[in-house]
Amino acid sequence: MPKANETVLEIDLKAFKHNFEYLKTKVDASVKSLAVVKAFAYGSDAIEVAKYLEELNVDYLAVAYAQEGIALRDAGIKSPILVLHPQPTNFKLIVERCLEPSLYSPRILKSFVEVAEKENQKEYPIHIKFNTGLNRLGFWESDVDHIIKHLNKTTSIKVKSIFSHLAASEDLNEREFTLNQIQSFKKISEELISRLGYQPFRHMTNTSGILNYPEAHFDMVRTGIGLYGFGNSVKENKHLKPIATLKSVISQIHMIEKGESVGYNRAYKSLGFEKTATIPIGHADGINRAYGNGNGHIFVNGKKAPIIGNVCMDMIMVNITNIDCKEGDEVIVFGKEHTAETLAENIGTISYEILTAVSQRVKRVFRR
Ligand SMILES: *Cc1c(COP(=O)(O)O)cnc(C)c1O
Repeated sequence: MPKANETVLEIDLKAFKHNFEYLKTKVDASVKSLAVVKAFAYGSDAIEVAKYLEELNVDYLAVAYAQEGIALRDAGIKSPILVLHPQPTNFKLIVERCLEPSLYSPRILKSFVEVAEKENQKEYPIHIKFNTGLNRLGFWESDVDHIIKHLNKTTSIKVKSIFSHLAASEDLNEREFTLNQIQSFKKISEELISRLGYQPFRHMTNTSGILNYPEAHFDMVRTGIGLYGFGNSVKENKHLKPIATLKSVISQIHMIEKGESVGYNRAYKSLGFEKTATIPIGHADGINRAYGNGNGHIFVNGKKAPIIGNVCMDMIMVNITNIDCKEGDEVIVFGKEHTAETLAENIGTISYEILTAVSQRVKRVFRR
């Protein structure tokens, strides 16, 4: 890998392929794979990742919002795209761009049918989402009657799949709750299917669900974080490879006397004669301000350099007193060895948030 000469997020597509294939070994060959590419493919790059997924013959893509799906269509992505959290204001665009909405409430169902009819659609593919315990989005079991009644009144839409989402698939202490969710989904989906008179496919698991609940794979699995290299457990992390490495460079080195301060509000005061490095990455790039004042660190020539003082919008300063380095040297914020997950733990968050926080002004570089 060439050395960075500015802040870059390097995306390793070989690692991505490894993760894709590893996750495939966990499900039956007959089970379809949906790749979740919401939030710029977990902070990497949704378009490049979606293109690569098409090369890998993925069956389905999913995004959270309509605009994310439209960006993929604009880039020439042809795969079916499930929109997990659409709003009525975008329903016309969803139909125009052949995106497939998740319909999750009576209000959303009614509103989508109105648009589909107005646009003269026949059997437009939609996905019915049930709430089985996450209490976030989804119809309730008691809505089945309502759904059937509504579907019987129109030929404009057709249920392509039925799905639900697990609340705690990574937490084995919640196994009983999760098994209940799975049972409940089975029951609700079977009832809906018997009353529909045709067989939409079913899906329920995210990455940890794939790994921990093979009985919940149904006809398709939805992989997000696993594709990007994290398995939400020490055991599974060993099998997966983080695809993103956030790198930067040393812009300037300062030698400061004891008692001098560093950065805004003089939040850091030198304890002796010290050496600091200024790095061109700040809170506007995804380095949360909570990482300031020693709560986060980067790696300079393999050594830990703590962030000192407050995180600025475009910069951080780090302590490199005992590190052999010079201006222009590459530094690592997170990557394969020093992972986003470990960094996340320093401020009590999770890999998902660190990855998706890398802002769009950080250049993405792809390695095949
Ligand atoms: C984000 C999301 C996923 C992917 O979850 P991971 O834990 O990243 O694998 C799957 N399904 C739904 C409904 C989601 O919102």
